Amino acid sequence: MDSRRGVIEEFLAVHPGRFCADCVGLALDIPARQVSMARHRLTATGALRSERAPCSGCNRVRLVVAAAGTPAGTSVSQTAVDSVALPRARLRSE
Ligand SMILES: [Zn+2]
Repeated sequence: MDSRRGVIEEFLAVHPGRFCADCVGLALDIPARQVSMARHRLTATGALRSERAPCSGCNRVRLVVAAAGTPAGTSVSQTAVDSVALPRARLRSE
């Protein structure tokens, strides 16, 4: 489980923005349920911030997670959206 938290933190460090559990799970090939569990722990420790906002990946207003340093209400960068839209294989190869 610790490794899951690590990759989620890493994902958010590489992809600025806020993402729902589904999009993080899709990008990292982790079940969304496990993303949610890791999110609870990470937000509890202050490593990540959780809020209800449009997801940078799917644009739906959901409970999303962002790196703790991400300012609230920042407009989403196109880079982040593109990154999530990439096939999983590309993320895996990194
Ligand atoms: Zn999403």
